[in-house]
Amino acid sequence: ESTRELLLSRIRDVRDYPKPGVLFKDITPLLADPAAFAALTDTLAELCVRHGATKVVGLEARGFILAAPVAVRAGLGFVPVRKAGKLPGATLSQAYALEYGTAEIEIHAEDLSADDRIMVIDDVLATGGTAEASLELIRRAGAEVAGVAVLMELGFLPGRARLEKGLRGAPLEVL
Ligand code: IMP
Repeated sequence: ESTRELLLSRIRDVRDYPKPGVLFKDITPLLADPAAFAALTDTLAELCVRHGATKVVGLEARGFILAAPVAVRAGLGFVPVRKAGKLPGATLSQAYALEYGTAEIEIHAEDLSADDRIMVIDDVLATGGTAEASLELIRRAGAEVAGVAVLMELGFLPGRARLEKGLRGAPLEVL
């Protein structure tokens, strides 16, 4: 069994969550399997090193769970991107469009510097809006983008296309 097969086999499809018609990709079985979680952490840490990242940004909330052990494993700093209103310090905010309405995410700008190259980590790339907005925050904070790494993309959504411009040639890694 390849690592990728192992990881994908531990993702559960939940029908009609969080609302009817949605097929939700649930990573909690993967997190509960120590071999799978370790393999995912190692794989993502290796990507961070390969792409010359100096820090790892995790996107709230499941991105935190993946990115924090990756940061420790790769010997890099961890910086959270949170939903608006959750960070106590001076923040940069970025609004982005959802299917219905808008959302807003924030970062502590002082946690990034001009010397940083950032790998963004999340579990699932859906429309790409959250990841795209996080790239804006990283650049507005003065840092460089090393890439975006996700466990999985929902292929029937245009996430990859939406993200392409924001990546400016940086890699999108999907396991
Ligand atoms: P996007 O901004 O539309 O790409 O949505 C991505 C965000 O929504 C990520 O932070 C994901 O964690 C979350 N998300 C969207 N669909 C799913 C899913 O099927 N499973 C888990 N998370 C999802």
